[in-house]
Amino acid sequence: MSLKFFNTRTRETEPFEPIEPGKVGLYTCGPTVYHFAHIGNLRTYLFEDLLRRALSMAGYKVKHVMNITDVGHLTSDADEGEDKMEAGAAREGRDVWEIAGFYAKAFQEDLKALRVMPPTLWCKATDHIPEQVELVRTLWDKGFAYAAEDGVYYDVSRFPRYGDFARKDLQGQEAGARVALPGGKRNREDFALWKFSPRDKRRLMEWDSPWGRGFPGWHLECSAMSLKYLGDHFDIHCGGVDHIPVHHTNEIAQTEAATGRSPWVNVWMHGEFLVVDKGKMSKSSGEFLTLSAVVEKGYSPLDYRYLCLGAHYRAPLAFRFESLDQARAGRRNLMEKLKGLDQVRALPVAEAKKLPSWTRFWECVEDDLNAPRALAQVWELAKDRDMDPAQKAGLLKLMDHCLGLDLLLPEPEKEQAPLSPAEQDLLDGRAAAKAARDFARADALRRELESRGILLKDTPQGTQWSRKR
Ligand code: AMP
Ligand code: ZN
Repeated sequence: MSLKFFNTRTRETEPFEPIEPGKVGLYTCGPTVYHFAHIGNLRTYLFEDLLRRALSMAGYKVKHVMNITDVGHLTSDADEGEDKMEAGAAREGRDVWEIAGFYAKAFQEDLKALRVMPPTLWCKATDHIPEQVELVRTLWDKGFAYAAEDGVYYDVSRFPRYGDFARKDLQGQEAGARVALPGGKRNREDFALWKFSPRDKRRLMEWDSPWGRGFPGWHLECSAMSLKYLGDHFDIHCGGVDHIPVHHTNEIAQTEAATGRSPWVNVWMHGEFLVVDKGKMSKSSGEFLTLSAVVEKGYSPLDYRYLCLGAHYRAPLAFRFESLDQARAGRRNLMEKLKGLDQVRALPVAEAKKLPSWTRFWECVEDDLNAPRALAQVWELAKDRDMDPAQKAGLLKLMDHCLGLDLLLPEPEKEQAPLSPAEQDLLDGRAAAKAARDFARADALRRELESRGILLKDTPQGTQWSRKR
């Protein structure tokens, strides 16, 4: 048995072969910390977590690196518009570094709530400015970079394979682009390696470089940091499908031009989008949901994890609250069927792995991470009334280790997710209303909390709350 993945680089499903036996270098493009992550972004991190868990369970020692983009990602992927970080600071009237710290922490809390394993190494763009400047210098010295009006750009015509990764017909596009390009850019697809600070405005984040004061282009950080931590040839690089035509195409062009070595990454894997009626869920469309908003409506983060596992990572997933309701009901029914198994002494892992149920489950995982089929195997097992409980518990532990649904944790531990700040405000408001003998308001706040799935009980020791199950 061996893992098989769909590789965007070759557009084939291939057996996975590590570069070094027993080890995997994995890089996953991380968040831009100017706002909360939305549940669409989180779908991508959930897919990557399944990959990470599958690799570990297949016996590989995984070195997983994830970046945090805290500078340089502009509102348009075409190197135009504002820096998202600076826009975030302006939106909230806060310091840009404070914004970066705040949203990075919020992101890490979301991952924790979703049981996404943290990477082996986090790395921030602003902590790696010298590495990025060094990479621009290498590209400059090799003739891949030139200065335009507002920055140093990568000349894509110097890298003939530029369009290959995204299967883009560059020739056709360039023919039309030869007409004057603004700002001294040579080709339409050229992208910024280093952007200069505007002359008339002081940026909140800027650094000196041999070409002028400014900040790194967004694509540069992933090349510089993955080269530093995983080297010039590593196993797997992931992100959402939107990264194929621009971000990852540019990462490849920069890195392979600088090192002269190809392929830089053996396997590229991309997660499909979470979509809403109007198209992909995105912050720019204004139509996005955060995980805390979902929790405030009374769902567990694991309901969302369960929903995502119900679709293959390479298929778009349409988000509707009715589907989340179904996921919640499905997860609860499953837990109901597994009740009591946490008390059973489970069969040891090595024994459980010899059972046919495990083989059936693992075959689904090996087949390009087919989570919906793997989940169906968990259901098969849960419904099997004749199986020896020790075997069943052993198998479920293993399966859950792969899917990360906390299926065998006792319920209260799981459901008692801490109150969100908004929920805490409602609870405090109700206590204040009661103290002021404003019972109508206290009742209204109780109902509001109930509608968010939080039940209250007034006891002599004070008000206790619990989440509806
Ligand atoms: P960003 O913070 O915008 O750099 O995005 C973080 C990650 O989320 C990237 O890997 C994107 O490809 C991914 N992403 C963005 N929107 C969606 C969506 N609607 N569904 C799934 N993944 C997404
Ligand atoms: Zn990246």
